[in-house]
Amino acid sequence: MTIKTAQNLRRISQIVFFLIFFWLILKTNFDVNLGMSESGEITLPYPVSIALELDPLVALGILLADGTIFKGLLWSLVVLIPTIFMGRIFCGWVCPLGSLNHWISEIPSERLGRKGKGKIDSNRYKKYQRIKYYLFFFFIAAALLGSLQLGLLDPLSLMARSIGTAVLPAIHTVADGLLLWIKSWGISPLGNLAQLIYDLASPILLTFRPAHFHAILTIGLFFIAILVMNRVFTRFWCRGICPLGAMLGIFSRYAIFGLEKDDKGCDGCNLCLLHCQGADGPDINSKWRQSECVVCLNCQAICPNNSLKFKFFPRLGKTEKSPAATQKVDITRRKVAVSVAAGLAMVPLYRTGDAYKVNSNPGLIRPPGAIPEKDFLSRCIRCGQCMRVCPNNALHPTFMESGAEGIWTPIMIPRIGYCEPTCTLCGQVCPTGAITELTVKEKVGDDKTRPVRVGTAFIDRGRCLPWGMTTPCIVCEEWCPTTPKAIYLEDEVTINGRDEVVPVKRPYVDPDRCTGCGACEYACPIINQPAIYVTSIGESRSVENQIILQRKGIDPGKQKG
Ligand code: SF4
Ligand code: SF4
Ligand code: SF4
Repeated sequence: MTIKTAQNLRRISQIVFFLIFFWLILKTNFDVNLGMSESGEITLPYPVSIALELDPLVALGILLADGTIFKGLLWSLVVLIPTIFMGRIFCGWVCPLGSLNHWISEIPSERLGRKGKGKIDSNRYKKYQRIKYYLFFFFIAAALLGSLQLGLLDPLSLMARSIGTAVLPAIHTVADGLLLWIKSWGISPLGNLAQLIYDLASPILLTFRPAHFHAILTIGLFFIAILVMNRVFTRFWCRGICPLGAMLGIFSRYAIFGLEKDDKGCDGCNLCLLHCQGADGPDINSKWRQSECVVCLNCQAICPNNSLKFKFFPRLGKTEKSPAATQKVDITRRKVAVSVAAGLAMVPLYRTGDAYKVNSNPGLIRPPGAIPEKDFLSRCIRCGQCMRVCPNNALHPTFMESGAEGIWTPIMIPRIGYCEPTCTLCGQVCPTGAITELTVKEKVGDDKTRPVRVGTAFIDRGRCLPWGMTTPCIVCEEWCPTTPKAIYLEDEVTINGRDEVVPVKRPYVDPDRCTGCGACEYACPIINQPAIYVTSIGESRSVENQIILQRKGIDPGKQKG
């Protein structure tokens, strides 16, 4: 195979894997045409989280944090074994974030630092490239204490989260805005054409309903910053930050496939450096660093003198002009120890905050089926798949609701969307088991088993129309989906401020029946602060976060009246 063919294969591979990844995120979506199983379950037809299950960094993190052999651990060998033989081929040929960084880096620029000598200099190996290894050791140490922070920077989680919760919702918002704008011109053929294009695009690109996510600016800006940095340093993220790249760099230490330099033909043109994606020193005067190379093959393809060759069992030793290559990773033991110590120290620091355990955050309503908080934080990789798939836009990334440790993990915000009783999609798509996969029967319960509860609703009598303003309203009772209803009404006759007799029905919550789904809070007609709201108390996953009466063994359902 010629080097040009191999380079073209790499390009095709990048496009194909990127499109597969993007398509899987698009398909992480509720659709009215989704099939329903015989037992009434709405199911997704594709294994939409499979790419996340292949991630060896996630598999290692969960193994350390949770002590479980995560189902993806074996799958991740599909990535690790080629790395052991071929080096960071995953980074150069497969990783969707790596490909995006590669494409953005290759857009020509007129800036001095991005062309000619400036670009050659920026493509030389730099010390900042060590940061990714120290971040890797930091995350691994935190995982050892049960805190899975690595999802913040793991490239596959980051891509899924950014595309699913920021990029695609932004596209939806722009599409809706454009459609309205064109229609507002009042030119009906144009309006019809715009509507036709919208209708054609909507099954592919748009969600069941426009999603609006909490704290999304932080995710969106972080993603934009990563992409923009490619205009300063080629593949800045892959070279300097990516903890998965670091892990693969460590595994590529014994790779038998590598770059052999022939210094006799080299005339020092530096074209290899100009096109190098990894800043790994392909030029004759530098030490070639296997752990930094992403096997893009650009150096060999561009070399006019055939002085560079990727081959099995390459000659890596020192020659007349060229220093010996190295398969070792450029890190110091002292800094690795500091990274590990920092990772170990961060976990108790996170957990001395009140968000964890001591002061259960009333707003921290986790998805139905979420495992207990401590385990949840050792499993959730913040991929955002649960948020993306939720048909009601009920799930959102946290900012500080579960402390700094839980940033970008999912919470339910009922005011934006409530949990559909017959839906179990978030558990189906969660790649790590942070949300267990429930059946509808388990979720809604029956005569013998209690439903899965994510919290409990409370009435704010000062804001409630029948309670505080002698105005009839039964919206919350109408929306409550449980059978029998968790909201019941009592007939009252009240006298309003004009001395008129007003019959009203006042709502009460039966905490025994309430699942915390949030439908009442969502539907409450009081703008801004609703008159009925859900807090996490009473959630099935926690024995501590329970209403005090239940903790004392008193059935609060029998306390009414
Ligand atoms: S939060 Fe409720 S409605 Fe949303 S995906 Fe999960 S089960 Fe479905
Ligand atoms: S809980 Fe949500 S964000 Fe966390 S791993 Fe599961 S699907 Fe991803
Ligand atoms: S949260 Fe509201 S709507 Fe849902 S079960 Fe409880 S009372 Fe009913």
